[in-house]
Amino acid sequence: RNGNSPDYNIVLLGELGVGKSALTVKYITRRFIMEYDPNIEDTYTKHEDIDGTEMCIHVMDTYDKEDSDPLRYLRWADGFMVVYGITSRQSFDKAREYLESVTQYLKANSKDSPVALVGNKIDLERYRQISKVEGNTLAQEFESLFFETTAAEEFEYVEDVFHGIIHEIQREKGDR
Ligand code: GDP
Ligand code: MG
Repeated sequence: RNGNSPDYNIVLLGELGVGKSALTVKYITRRFIMEYDPNIEDTYTKHEDIDGTEMCIHVMDTYDKEDSDPLRYLRWADGFMVVYGITSRQSFDKAREYLESVTQYLKANSKDSPVALVGNKIDLERYRQISKVEGNTLAQEFESLFFETTAAEEFEYVEDVFHGIIHEIQREKGDR
């Protein structure tokens, strides 16, 4: 890789089962893996060339246990993706908690890293519990980006989310 291509770190947060691993694996490999070990927490790397700019994207797919230290990703991340499933009210309530702790950390540390609220599983429209308006309203409350997506359909749904947050990271770092 080009020695001076920048590194950007993105972390995925959210309740177990919302599709963090599915979104991560889809972004890295373009494939939808139906059953991914829920106990795995790992970081993956992808080289990107966006609009002629090379970069190295590192994605941390988290698995939060009771005793996990949130500082492991809070310090590390340049951008945050807080994921819920549009079919789960409980995961949406959990997303609010993640938004609260992330934004509180950023404020306390005078950081301006972008945060995106991501409603996943829009292929399951008939089981939808959280409307797009409700998702958007929560995102606005935390001044975060908002996306709805699916890991189960075309790659572009997932790519749009990652590229959207990468653009904001570039802007925030003055790289663009
Ligand atoms: P995680 O615990 O947040 O990492 O969630 P996983 O990525 O392991 O996904 C949990 C379950 O939801 C798995 O059975 C996935 O196949 C499924 N899943 C993840 N994303 C989607 C999606 O966009 N659409 C559908 N229909 N299922 C999904
Ligand atoms: Mg997982």
